[in-house]
Amino acid sequence: MDVLEYMGDWGHEQVTMFSDPAVGLKAVIAIHDTTLGPACGGLRIWPYENEEEAVRDALRLSRAMTYKSAAADLPLGGGKGVIIADPHTQKTEAMLRSYGRFVEALGGRYITTTDVGSTGRDLEYVRLETAHVVGLPTTAGGSGDTSIMTGLGIYMGMKACARRTWDSDSLAGKKIAIQGFGKVAFHLAHHLLKEDADLVVADVYSDAVDRARDMGIKVVEPEKIYDADCDIFSPCALGGVLNRDTIPRLKCRIVAGGANNQLAGDADGEELHRRGILYAPDYIINAGGIINASAEIGTPYNPDRAREKTERIYEIMGRVAQISENEEIPTSQAADRMVKERLESVRSVKNLFRPH
Ligand code: NAD
Repeated sequence: MDVLEYMGDWGHEQVTMFSDPAVGLKAVIAIHDTTLGPACGGLRIWPYENEEEAVRDALRLSRAMTYKSAAADLPLGGGKGVIIADPHTQKTEAMLRSYGRFVEALGGRYITTTDVGSTGRDLEYVRLETAHVVGLPTTAGGSGDTSIMTGLGIYMGMKACARRTWDSDSLAGKKIAIQGFGKVAFHLAHHLLKEDADLVVADVYSDAVDRARDMGIKVVEPEKIYDADCDIFSPCALGGVLNRDTIPRLKCRIVAGGANNQLAGDADGEELHRRGILYAPDYIINAGGIINASAEIGTPYNPDRAREKTERIYEIMGRVAQISENEEIPTSQAADRMVKERLESVRSVKNLFRPH
């Protein structure tokens, strides 16, 4: 992989690699774009097969964070930290503190938080070495579990889609099929049940299925969820689930869920549009987690402020749907366009005052 060429093509500013053999640390931090503010994104700890895979993941995920934060109107850019290690067997205090020192060395250009393989408790060790951390547990003065606000944001995004589709944002009586019943889906379901929506869920994990049943929710086999008779399909498990095999099976008018990278490819966004299915772009409506964590920056964490910002996903999703309608383009493209416009306009403001 030609890293510099990739960076040039996708607009990345910086990739830094760190090594501390004494504690087994091999880390990569990618900073995609700091036009809107410091780059922020999670720390992924994963046993990558090789270095290239880790760099590629950091590059891909940091860019996704630029888009997510820009769309959510946050004063943040996109970044990602990656440690090559098995989080179950190799993660240690020393490794995390060493990573913290490297984050500190970037002088605030990158703010780290949790992702796959890292937890709020891990960040307490990172925090001992750097102040550039968000997403700490509430017991450490942080914003705590991100999935609560992520669930709220998806719910607000879903309501915005309902308004465009049925002229009312009420979800009462709407049939909603949820794929995956983990942390995010649980909090989403809480809001939907309060509004008397009619839910059906599928999960591959028996504890998750039991939890759904305990809440009085119908359950179907994982493979059947695509065929469910529903108004809204909500992918809350894996990426790549909207593809040429699954889209023809969907009976819904709206797709709105929390999973990252739901579209297998750009053509799948176009196919949903062609079929008249309103797709809520994943990074638009699952931004509640980063909104929540970013509410720790600068001032003490204020849950009301985080909630109010998360609820704005309703307006943001409405704007995306409006652009899609006006321009006759898929919502996936409309969202990207909205983000690029924000980045361009802020870039030009800064340029006015750049010393010559
Ligand atoms: P989670 O691990 O708690 O839940 C995922 C659930 O999906 C699990 O119960 C798992 O058993 C189930 N699952 C896996 N494969 C499945 C399949 N083939 N069919 C049905 N169910 C399946 O994770 P989470 O925190 O709830 O996150 C869910 C999704 O949302 C992920 O894609 C995540 O990247 C994304 N996301 C999460 C957050 C957050 O704040 N947690 C924020 C943004 C995006």
